[in-house]
Amino acid sequence: MTTESHPKMATPVYSLDEARDAVLALIPAPVSTESIALENAVNRVLAKDIRAQHQVPPFRNSAMDGYAIRYQDSLNTEQFRLAGKSLAGHPFTGNMPANSAVRITTGAALPADADTVVIQENTIVEDDVISFTQAPKAQQHLRNPGDDIAIGQLLIEKNRRLSPADTGLIAAQGIATVDVFIQPRVAVFSTGDELCNAGTPLKYGQIYDSNRTSIRSLLARAGIETTDLGIISDHPDAMQTIMNRGADFDFILSSGGVSVGEADYVKASLENNGELFFWKVAMKPGKPMVTGKLTGGAFYFGLPGNPVSSMVTCVQFVIPAINAFCGQTYQPPISLSAVAQCNLPKEIGRFEFQRACAFPDEKGKLTVTTTGLQDSHVLSSMTKANCFVCLQADSSGANAGDIVEIILFSSLPGLN
Ligand code: AMP
Ligand code: MG
Repeated sequence: MTTESHPKMATPVYSLDEARDAVLALIPAPVSTESIALENAVNRVLAKDIRAQHQVPPFRNSAMDGYAIRYQDSLNTEQFRLAGKSLAGHPFTGNMPANSAVRITTGAALPADADTVVIQENTIVEDDVISFTQAPKAQQHLRNPGDDIAIGQLLIEKNRRLSPADTGLIAAQGIATVDVFIQPRVAVFSTGDELCNAGTPLKYGQIYDSNRTSIRSLLARAGIETTDLGIISDHPDAMQTIMNRGADFDFILSSGGVSVGEADYVKASLENNGELFFWKVAMKPGKPMVTGKLTGGAFYFGLPGNPVSSMVTCVQFVIPAINAFCGQTYQPPISLSAVAQCNLPKEIGRFEFQRACAFPDEKGKLTVTTTGLQDSHVLSSMTKANCFVCLQADSSGANAGDIVEIILFSSLPGLN
């Protein structure tokens, strides 16, 4: 942590990681859980480990369409007599005479006497007599019970936000309800006398409110529902009406009004209505940001007004914080190395997330190029991008040809 001169006081300036760690340290582990239908469980955070109650596959079955035989018979004969069929859901339950074959489909139970499957493409069938174009190998094309999952195996660890594959794996166990942590109550509003709702004509000096939409969309994508509290004016009384609602929500998020401009009431209002934790993070875009807790109980995040800054701080701090509140363990995003296709200028001092586009070059090597103007009001730099180039605080930028660190949007909850 460093300090920075300020008209009134020396303000602590946090690095990105210090700020995230500090935010996460504030968030209590959740206790309340609910039991919900599996069909509603995708994106919810699992509250209890799920262990396998059944082995998967549950019985020995065929991996291919073809004929099930006894391998030993193939050493004695080249001609097999059809003894029946075993279809998925309709197993063959009879005995197989010597030198016989049972027609079998993928996933169907292997007859008790059989131990090998010959794929259909390698067979010649004449009436009820089957011969093979290649000598079979013992045990081929089988799926054995428990190959995928053994009884008692830990299937899904708690504190994980359930993915589509997770819900499928749970369904494959015949489990119809799961225990998850309760959903957080999250409210989002915008501050600014210049802001206007979409669908309303703009007056001179006004702009449309885009932050509320992008923030709520990020949260929706991360699996977090929100309540819309609209736009409030740059006036302490208007802020107070929101601050009074600290007991109605677990998180209240605003954008705008957190710099040191005359109309910036957010910080002062938070100090009057609770506790201010810190308010400067040495990252670009994103400085300044206000974090605190209202006396009513809600955590408060005052995100910057500039549209790119509000999105980046939401992804870096708010989503990890809400996820922690929901019981989800923080997973750092995966960094990749890419070759810069262009110069990426930067001033020394703050960590920078530059918006960029990563793609493989003609040899398949990962390369990255900027999406252009990096100012924090240029929201189009986000829509054109599929990654951030991460430039450390002490870096003075990168040149074309340098290897740089990137984080794909697909590995960041909210942007994925
Ligand atoms: P502020 O921190 O309130 O001074 O805002 C910084 C910049 O972000 C100004 O140019 C604001 O007009 C702009 N801004 C603030 N809130 C929003 C919003 N909700 N949507 C779009 N732009 C905003
Ligand atoms: Mg403002």
